[in-house]
Amino acid sequence: FVNNTKEFFKYCEENEVKFVDFRFTDMKGMWHHLTYMLSAVNEGNLTNGLPFDGSSVDAWQPINKSDMLLKPDVGTAFLDPFTADSTIIVICDVYDIYKGEMYEKCPRSIAKKALTHLSESGVGDVAYFGPENEFFIFDDVKIIDNINESYYRVDSEEGCWADAREIEGGNTGHRPRTKGGYFPVQPTDSMVDLRAEMMLVLEQVGLEVVLGHHEVAQAQGEIGIVFGDLIEAADNVQKYKYVCKMVAHLNGKTCTFMPKPLYGDNGNGMHVHQSIWKNGKNLFYTEGEYGNLSEMARHYVGGIFKHARAVAAFTNPSTNSYKRLIPGFEAPSILTYSSQNRSASCRVPYGAGEKATRIEMRFPDSTACPYLGFAAMLMAGLDGIANKVEPIGPMDEDLFEMPLDEIRERKIPQMPHTLRGSLEALIRDNDFLKPVFSQDMIDTYQHYKFETQVWPDEARPTAFEFMSTY
Ligand code: GLN
Ligand code: MG
Ligand code: MG
Ligand code: MG
Repeated sequence: FVNNTKEFFKYCEENEVKFVDFRFTDMKGMWHHLTYMLSAVNEGNLTNGLPFDGSSVDAWQPINKSDMLLKPDVGTAFLDPFTADSTIIVICDVYDIYKGEMYEKCPRSIAKKALTHLSESGVGDVAYFGPENEFFIFDDVKIIDNINESYYRVDSEEGCWADAREIEGGNTGHRPRTKGGYFPVQPTDSMVDLRAEMMLVLEQVGLEVVLGHHEVAQAQGEIGIVFGDLIEAADNVQKYKYVCKMVAHLNGKTCTFMPKPLYGDNGNGMHVHQSIWKNGKNLFYTEGEYGNLSEMARHYVGGIFKHARAVAAFTNPSTNSYKRLIPGFEAPSILTYSSQNRSASCRVPYGAGEKATRIEMRFPDSTACPYLGFAAMLMAGLDGIANKVEPIGPMDEDLFEMPLDEIRERKIPQMPHTLRGSLEALIRDNDFLKPVFSQDMIDTYQHYKFETQVWPDEARPTAFEFMSTY
């Protein structure tokens, strides 16, 4: 891979590159691209930027102020494994021509500002992030039918979608049952070759792959990637989703990161491991403390919990996100921390040692734009460090078993239950974001989410309401 523009052109020559694919991320985390002929790319536009229409990207620029620039980050260049002609992909930041600075609604630029804030605050010089993105593989064509069927059958048959189909006949002997995917070998695990292909392609595009496995739910999978610094980790999420979706697509399947596609089975999380370092030292480690977690790490967790309702607007930004955050499916709703405990919002991996000690936030999901989600958690955590916020906990019991009355009596804070709840929290609680998120960005973001997620969802009668209304 390359370090500067000179190396970039040399790399293109060596690989007979014909096209340069410039990519940027919008506020909902989606990658967009512009493909240039290599012959039209030069030292000048690589350094000064490439023009595009910013008014056609959701909730960005008005039509009368539409000209924007893409600033390529050539260090991110990698060959596209899926194009017929040799194409190199370059990840870009978005630049505001009018203000002559990074665009205030560009997620990757916001993430960079959060890192600057980290070093300027004197707390640390690097923040490591290790996301774990889970996904489902569905048959490309049948998915719609199956999902609709599941609405009606689940409750009437007291079983899950697969069980319901079993009742109707057909060979389901080798199909994982509800929560039955973790993790029997083939033929029950029918995704071995598909995951293997994903893992190999992920390595090809520069991710360091550790393992792949079936997840708990039917047709659910996960591939473990080595952590990176905040920007690298967020770039990797974009590559990971692109590769998993493309490999599935080329095999006639659909890969979805939707947080809760199937009622009654586990959902898709994006757990995010985090630690802050300074001068090569892990500041989240203190031997002998609970979980060997330093006071700083505890305050970081305290900050994330204090602002969790607002943070969720970035880490769990779809209406579907909140169908995942219910007890019983390894997804948390209670804002406490615990060593080993997978029912808490924050798990401290057990016995990790000095270098690997970290916290694992378990509530985020992959509908988050990774740059915004990571930046929001970092800002909340830094606020917690600055104000020495103690999180509630540790709580080592099974929190899924805790009755609601007890949760309320003990005043244990919970995640919001709807996207509306988290957006309303963001409107009230956003000072902690202000050093890097502008007021205009926050206003635009929450309004965009109300318009594209909350209101359309609230306006639609659902299949379940036909059964529950009389
Ligand atoms: N799928 C679970 C979630 O929604 C996590 C399960 C696991 O990784 N052990 O977060
Ligand atoms: Mg995992
Ligand atoms: Mg998992
Ligand atoms: Mg995990």
